[in-house]
Amino acid sequence: MRIGQGFDAHRFIAGARLVLGGVEIPFELGLQAHSDGDCLLHAITDALLGAAALGDLGSHFPDTDERLAGIDSRRLLLDVLAKVRAAGYRVGNVDSTIIAQKPRLAPHIGRMRAVVAQDLELPEERVSVKATTTERMGFTGREEGIAAMAVVTIVGAS
Ligand code: MG
Repeated sequence: MRIGQGFDAHRFIAGARLVLGGVEIPFELGLQAHSDGDCLLHAITDALLGAAALGDLGSHFPDTDERLAGIDSRRLLLDVLAKVRAAGYRVGNVDSTIIAQKPRLAPHIGRMRAVVAQDLELPEERVSVKATTTERMGFTGREEGIAAMAVVTIVGAS
């Protein structure tokens, strides 16, 4: 068994969608990014890459690649899942934390879990999505953006 961890953060901007865990969340601000800015999926995807020691998200999907502009981050996750499988692993479980002062994420966590479980072809009980604030400290506490962390285990398929 191997473990990978991932971290990501994006800045709030006006006029963008807020997408977390593949779920569009109603909010007056979105996240600035070359992709759809889904920092939860980016953290999970980076953790998958890390578990298999396959590099990082930026090396696989450079933000200079015009073909990736506005891309649905679920496509990045699925692409990396295929690479992890090709390297001889299956995913064990995912644990993740979204760090945001706003908006309130509890109503959306269930749908995020369902999306991640579906994309990784895992039962939902192997996918954990949690949310926390930083008690108004730091960049998330000042409502400048959202961060996410993830841990993933992978298991040799053979
Ligand atoms: Mg990102």
